[in-house]
Amino acid sequence: MTLLNAKPDESKPLYDETPTSDNESPVIPFGVITIGGIAWRIVIDPGLEAEGLSGDISEDKALIRIMPRDPSAMTITLVHEILHAINWVYCNSAIPHKVFNALAHGLIQSAKQLLPGCSIGWSETLRKS
Ligand SMILES: [Zn+2]
Repeated sequence: MTLLNAKPDESKPLYDETPTSDNESPVIPFGVITIGGIAWRIVIDPGLEAEGLSGDISEDKALIRIMPRDPSAMTITLVHEILHAINWVYCNSAIPHKVFNALAHGLIQSAKQLLPGCSIGWSETLRKS
């Protein structure tokens, strides 16, 4: 797996609604975040529940999937998956996975203090679906 292989497929639109996972469930496009020069597509994927996951990342597809549920839990999951991307891009996956949730909570607490009123528009996206 190389960084070159992780670039998103440029022939596909960013908001492609085709199923992205093996469960073939419809996904809701959420957005794109660039980390380490890679545009990571974020989708909300109800099919993750059947996989027993609250979130998932595919470095090969540069794709982050988040299960729809309570918005604060979705935010923690998104930051957790972003930490996966940071760890993969910048740290050669050296950060142990067991610290991701603690880091996610600490980063969210910090962001709320540094950027008062900041929030992620989960509700608007879920309402549109
Ligand atoms: Zn994880």
